[in-house]
Amino acid sequence: MRFNYRSLPCNVVFHEGALAQLPEEVKKLGSKALVLSTPEQRPIAQCAAAALGDLSVGLFDRATMHVPIEVAELARSTARELRADVCVAIGGGSTIGLGKAIALVSEIPIIAVPTTYAGSEMTQIWGITADGLKKTGKDARVLPKTVIYDPILTLTLPSTLSGTSGINALAHCAEALYAQDANPITSIVAEEGIRALATSLPAITASPTNIDARSEALYGAWLAGICLGTAGVALHHKLCHTLGGACNLPHSETHAVVLPHALAYNARAAPDAMRRLARAMGCADVPQALVDLAKAVGARTALKDLDMAERDIDRVTDLALENPYWNPEPLTRSGVRVLVHNAYWGLRPGSTN
Ligand code: NAD
Repeated sequence: MRFNYRSLPCNVVFHEGALAQLPEEVKKLGSKALVLSTPEQRPIAQCAAAALGDLSVGLFDRATMHVPIEVAELARSTARELRADVCVAIGGGSTIGLGKAIALVSEIPIIAVPTTYAGSEMTQIWGITADGLKKTGKDARVLPKTVIYDPILTLTLPSTLSGTSGINALAHCAEALYAQDANPITSIVAEEGIRALATSLPAITASPTNIDARSEALYGAWLAGICLGTAGVALHHKLCHTLGGACNLPHSETHAVVLPHALAYNARAAPDAMRRLARAMGCADVPQALVDLAKAVGARTALKDLDMAERDIDRVTDLALENPYWNPEPLTRSGVRVLVHNAYWGLRPGSTN
């Protein structure tokens, strides 16, 4: 056995109603909080700002998918003008990404209040989009100091988006099992995350206000964030990043389509990961079980149904191979093209004709 392991320093508060602890958590880090949200989530951000009272210096509600540089610059100047000394990011990966864009240039600490299952709150990874290209990097300054997980805030996440966002989280766990930096601790965390997500997501689809299922899914998402932040990713994430950037496909929906195909590609080279996935999901055929899970939560299972053009199959294949991430199964153009082709048409994962 041989591995490196480094845990990331981050305080986690997790319980139903945890948002009520926000003022207390802000006081530990500063006294002038700038609250961030998307336009759609302004109401919940307003409630948080009101609860903060004098501890809040303003609300910036223009967080947008993939953090466009113009939005990042505007948020940064707003933080400067208001002399904010802490950012409260309430929302999904897009809002937390905006907090990271501010922290990257100012070192203002972030309190993240995740309302999806994307996992950005547990990582040192930032991303900013300029001139149609998303640049990403790793920087210790962008890791939130505190994360407040309140399952009540996820009750409004639409049913299908909950499912695809949860499969996005499950993908972090799955790839952590065979990533280059995989290690025994993260693998235990990943397996528990997969179990929690695989059992809770169909329950949320059946009853989106089931708070126990919401808690279980958010718990799984936290574990998935730890995996993403400490073990890294491989071909599946590379393909999803490429599809998002090159074809403008929706983030979590793309993960839900691609994951079974990426796992079928890597199955032979990562038998221990597949064993753990099968154990955690209670199934024999992991790729097919993931297709079934996607269907069960109402997600689409073919890239063509996400409005990708057929002619982009070759372009995406080439782009994904340009700066590839490390992957357990060696990457070949023909193999990756078959994978993208199968994902495009929604064919059985791993099929070769
Ligand atoms: P998102 O943050 O873009 O949110 C999607 C939509 O759902 C938004 O309109 C948002 O307002 C709405 N929403 C969020 N929570 C809601 C709730 N509880 N109720 C109702 N509506 C809600 O989506 P996402 O999938 O969380 O994040 C995707 C982005 O995050 C991508 O840009 C991705 O690259 C990034 N990301 C980054 C990391 C990282 O480590 N840096 C990790 C994962 C994802």
